[in-house]
Amino acid sequence: MRHLVISDVHANLEALEAVLEAAPDHEAVLFLGDLVGYGPNPNECVDLVRRLPGLTALVGNHDLAALGLIDSADFNDVARAAALWTGEQLTDESRSFLSGLKPALSQGEIYLAHASPRDPVWEYMESPGQGPPNFARFKQRTCFVGHTHIPRVFEEPSGVRIPRPGESLALHAPPRRIVNPGGVGQPRDHDPRAAYGIFDAETGGFAFRRVPYDIAGTQQKILAAGLPAALASRLELGA
Ligand code: ZN
Repeated sequence: MRHLVISDVHANLEALEAVLEAAPDHEAVLFLGDLVGYGPNPNECVDLVRRLPGLTALVGNHDLAALGLIDSADFNDVARAAALWTGEQLTDESRSFLSGLKPALSQGEIYLAHASPRDPVWEYMESPGQGPPNFARFKQRTCFVGHTHIPRVFEEPSGVRIPRPGESLALHAPPRRIVNPGGVGQPRDHDPRAAYGIFDAETGGFAFRRVPYDIAGTQQKILAAGLPAALASRLELGA
């Protein structure tokens, strides 16, 4: 079964639509959390994602902050302002969808966590030392994570590297891996294109993909909503 693997949409409807249009046919979707926060279209993104075929979805720290379920005092000023704005926008339907999600779960041969296996809400997985304690927290061969908005591959025990766009992995072959597909709605690896992954559960093949989207359109909506201007400017930098 072919899975679309996406994370960190962050209420960026143009980026989400571009990914859905560019992705090859797939029977299932793995969404790794942070559907809202930062961007101008939280309810539209929730409506689109909740209807995706074969959806398995996680909640992220920004979703939890917008719901008022974690304290946004732990966020920087811009993220906090966006969380407060998003909380005011969310419809009862959007709240009910997001509040039913967990930040990590086992799905057969795959483990999913928004941030990391040992701390699924907050840990930014970036460095080699974070490999061993996190591989110890799940039993599957493969774990998908989001949260950093940067495509990355951890190989057990402590290998870590940034993949090339278009690079493929053979996830059924050793070593065990923790894979981040990158962020849809706010990439931070200096490539402003939306990032996503395609995973074939039968063969174990995984491909890192990128697609351009209408960044100017999203930026205009961010400014019109009165969200911090920094949230618009960072999109064109991919930072
Ligand atoms: Zn995020």
